[in-house]
Amino acid sequence: MTKNLDRGMTYDVAVIGSGLAGLTAANYLAKLGYRVALFEQHYVLGGLAAYFSRKSHIFDVSLHGFPVGMVKSCRKYWSPEIANRIVQLKRVRFVNPQFDIETTFTREDFTKILIEKFNIESERVESFFNKLRQMNFYDDDRRCTRDIFEEFFPGRSDVHRLLMEPIAYANGSTLDDEAITYGIVFSNFMGKGVYTFEGGTDLLMEKMTEELMRNGVDIFKRSKVEKILLDSAQVVGVRINGVDVQCHAVLSNAHVLNTVENLVGKEHFSSKFLVKVNGTRINNSSCQVYIGIKPGETIDDIGDLIFTSENERFDSQELKDFHTKSRTFSLYYPKTRPDKQPMYAVVASMNANWNDWDRLDDESYRREKNRIIEESVRCLEQFIPDVRQKIDHVEAATPKTFFRYTGHPHGTSFGTKFEGLEISMGLSDEIQGLYHAGSVGIIMSGWLGAMNYGIIAAHKLASSL
Ligand SMILES: Cc1cc2nc3c(=O)[nH]c(=O)nc-3n(C[C@H](O)[C@H](O)[C@H](O)COP(=O)(O)OP(=O)(O)OC[C@H]3O[C@@H](n4cnc5c(N)ncnc54)[C@H](O)[C@@H]3O)c2cc1C
Repeated sequence: MTKNLDRGMTYDVAVIGSGLAGLTAANYLAKLGYRVALFEQHYVLGGLAAYFSRKSHIFDVSLHGFPVGMVKSCRKYWSPEIANRIVQLKRVRFVNPQFDIETTFTREDFTKILIEKFNIESERVESFFNKLRQMNFYDDDRRCTRDIFEEFFPGRSDVHRLLMEPIAYANGSTLDDEAITYGIVFSNFMGKGVYTFEGGTDLLMEKMTEELMRNGVDIFKRSKVEKILLDSAQVVGVRINGVDVQCHAVLSNAHVLNTVENLVGKEHFSSKFLVKVNGTRINNSSCQVYIGIKPGETIDDIGDLIFTSENERFDSQELKDFHTKSRTFSLYYPKTRPDKQPMYAVVASMNANWNDWDRLDDESYRREKNRIIEESVRCLEQFIPDVRQKIDHVEAATPKTFFRYTGHPHGTSFGTKFEGLEISMGLSDEIQGLYHAGSVGIIMSGWLGAMNYGIIAAHKLASSL
C-alpha cells in the first residue's frame, strides 16, 4: 500500500527515487529508527531495476547478471528470503569473429580458458588477476584500462576483448576510462561468476516493498520531487506536486547532475564545486529488444548470457555505435520464474548514445526501432534458427525510453563517468543534509554497486542526524 501526500507531513529523511540505491538506503535508515519517506515519480518501484508486462510475458530490463556480492548485501541489508533466491547463471558464452567460448565466468574457469585457449602463461594470468584485486579506490593510479591490458597482454586484441566486453556492458566503461573502474567491477564478477534473482525483478520488488513497509517506510509512488527546499544552505524539505513535506535530510537517488542543477539549483553551490559539476561526463545509455516466445512453445537451452558481435575486433566506440554489430542476449527460461506458468523470453541489449536517437523525427525513430528489432531477431536466428516463427511479442527500448522512465539526463544507464563520484560524495559539504546515492563514477553502478552505495550514503547521512 502506498501513502497519499498531505501538507504538514514531517520526516527525518526524504529519499528521492526508488532505484536500488534509494530503496536500500530507505530500508537501512528505517531500520535504524528514522522516519523515512520514499518518493518515486514512476508508478512502480525499482528505477532501472525495472520489469514490465506484455500479454502473458514479463520482461526484465536489467536482470542480466550481477556479482556474488549481492548475496551478502541482500542478506545484510534486506532479508535472508531475498538473499536465498540469488542463483548462479552457469552458461555464459562469447561468440564473435575472434573466438567462440563458453564459461562459468569464475576466476578458475577464466584462468583455464586464458591458459588453454589463448595460450597465456599461467604466471601472467595470475599476476593480472592479482593486480586487479589490489586496485584500490584511493590509489593515485591514473592509468586507463588499455594501459593495463597492454602491460599484461601486449597486442592481444582477442584477450582484451574477452576481458573488456562484459564490463563494457556492465557499466559502460571503455578502454580509455580509468583502470580502477574496470579493476573493481571485473574483480567483483571474477570471484564466483554471474548471478541472477530467481523469481524475476517483479518478485524482487514485491519482497523489497514488503520489507520497506514492515520497517515503516512511507512509500509515495507517482510522486515526482520538483524541488529540494533549503533554508540558508540547509535542507528543510521537498516539494512534490506543489505540496511541501518537511524533512531534516534528503538522500537523492535522482541522477547526480539533476540533483544539483534542477532539484537544488546551481545558485546554491560554490563556484569551485560547479566547475567540477560542469566537467562531469554523463555515461552512455542502452537500447534493448524484448522478445516474448508464444505460450506453449519452447526454445533450446543455448546459454544464459551470450556476448555476441559480428565486428572483427573489440572496439569501445563500435559497441555503442548507432549501427553496432555487437549485442548481448539474455535468455529467460521457465527457471527464471519457477512459480509461474512456464514462459520463455529473450532480451537483446546494446550500448547506445543519446544523440543518435534524440535527433530523429517521429517517423525515423519508429523506423530505426524496427531496424534494431530486425537486426536482433536476425542475429538470434543464428542461435535459434526457427525463433522467428515462435515470437509472440517484440518491442524495443532506446535511450529515450530510459529517459522517459527515470528522468536521467541522456537516458543514461550507468550514471556518470569517474568524476561524478566526487560530486556525489561532496554534496553534503556544500549543503547541510543533502546526500546522493546511485550510479556514479562507473564503480557505483550496476545492481551491487548501486545497492552498496545506498548503504554508504545512508550511513553517512545517519551519522549527521
Ligand atoms: C538496459 C540496462 C541493463 C542493465 N543490466 C544490468 C545488469 O545486468 N546487472 C547489473 O548489475 N546492472 C545492470 N544495469 C544497471 C543497473 O540497472 C543500474 O546501475 C541500477 O539499477 C541503478 O540504480 P540506481 O540506484 O542508481 O537508480 P536508478 O535505477 O537509476 O533509479 C533512480 C530512480 O529515481 C527516480 N527519480 C528520478 N528523479 C526523481 C524525482 N525528481 N522524483 C522522484 N523520483 C525520481 C527514477 O524514476 C528512478 O526510479 C543495467 C541498466 C540498463 C539500463
